[in-house]
Amino acid sequence: MINRVCIFLSCVFFLGGCGINNEPMPQIVSTTVYEPRVIPPRVIAPKQNSRATYGNISRSWYPPSQLEKGWRAIVVHHTATDFGNATIIDKWHRERNHWEGVGYDFVIGNGTDSTDGQVEVTFRWRKQITGAHCRAEPNNWANKDGIGICLVGNFNRTAPSSRQVQSLVKLIRFLQKRYGIPNNRIYGHKTTPGARVTECPGRNLSITRLRSMLN
Ligand SMILES: [Zn+2]
Repeated sequence: MINRVCIFLSCVFFLGGCGINNEPMPQIVSTTVYEPRVIPPRVIAPKQNSRATYGNISRSWYPPSQLEKGWRAIVVHHTATDFGNATIIDKWHRERNHWEGVGYDFVIGNGTDSTDGQVEVTFRWRKQITGAHCRAEPNNWANKDGIGICLVGNFNRTAPSSRQVQSLVKLIRFLQKRYGIPNNRIYGHKTTPGARVTECPGRNLSITRLRSMLN
């Protein structure tokens, strides 16, 4: 009896085979459709002018294009004070000299009233008008055609900070490239051709050294 049962079961198994193998594989149907994420390419707008050429230059250093004029020299000054910034110098020049405002185009701070090495741009640069920083013969040429940069400090007593020098070099390089100003037309106030006698920008700000840093 047991043998008969075994033969019967064997026949069923044999004839039917492995039921599992004969069944179609279950299909996993997901209702979620995964599509590859399409990341749109970054569109970099073409620049309207050459302002991208000089890297991480502050936009404020560029004058308005409709006002921009040619410049042919750079005159470096000091405030001959321990402190100051563009706003304070603007007040001095209005009240003491009765000028229209700060005489320089740029002021580079020393960490007192603006950040150490901070470059402030004045209304003279924004309006591209004649400066009031270096009266020189003939014909007031340095105020008309020279860009005035003033570093806060008295460089007869101290030296410009390394951040001030870094900013000065960066600013001058930018201006040189933009206006084609060679190193030999970068002056200290006192060595500007035709300028009146002055100690500005002090004995510790060497224009010779500055020029060598620009090479
Ligand atoms: Zn000066």
